[in-house]
Amino acid sequence: MAIREILIHPDDRLREVAKPVVFPLSDDVKQIIKDMAETMYDAPGVGLAAPQIDVSLQIAVTDTLWRSDEVRHDPDKSGADRDLKVWLNPEFLWKSDESATWEEGCLSVPETYADVTRPAAVRLRWFDMDGGQHEKDFTDFLAVALQHEFDHLLGKLFIDYLSPLKRNMITKKMKKLFKG
Ligand SMILES: [Zn+2]
Repeated sequence: MAIREILIHPDDRLREVAKPVVFPLSDDVKQIIKDMAETMYDAPGVGLAAPQIDVSLQIAVTDTLWRSDEVRHDPDKSGADRDLKVWLNPEFLWKSDESATWEEGCLSVPETYADVTRPAAVRLRWFDMDGGQHEKDFTDFLAVALQHEFDHLLGKLFIDYLSPLKRNMITKKMKKLFKG
């Protein structure tokens, strides 16, 4: 297992549309998924999409339990209280008209948080690591987190939802802080 380098905005590789994974998963893809989980926990973050580590495949990992400060800041709890989810080739089948606003951040846009308004509920179809197909409705934080992660697979970032002025300010800040 290895912690991968996370690409930081602006980077053209974050703007590519990712390709579907093919089943059965190759050992390479299985290793990428393990590395993504390790990289997400190390960051720490609640989600990571493959394009963020320069892999243009439709893979995302999340752990929304990890969001709780109690779990994140107590090393003894790491492992037991994790809820790692792997999402392959995800596709939204439906999004609600009703919207919700949450403060979002992103490992590829460090130290930056902004309110983003998205559909409050979604119906998702995705595949697990064995190639099994699933369909389920999500609401609240997970609905938002999944939309954020799967935007990455389409080359989109949460800052795309902000005003051009705000987005440009963030891009300048990222260049200054992280691109030396
Ligand atoms: Zn992100």
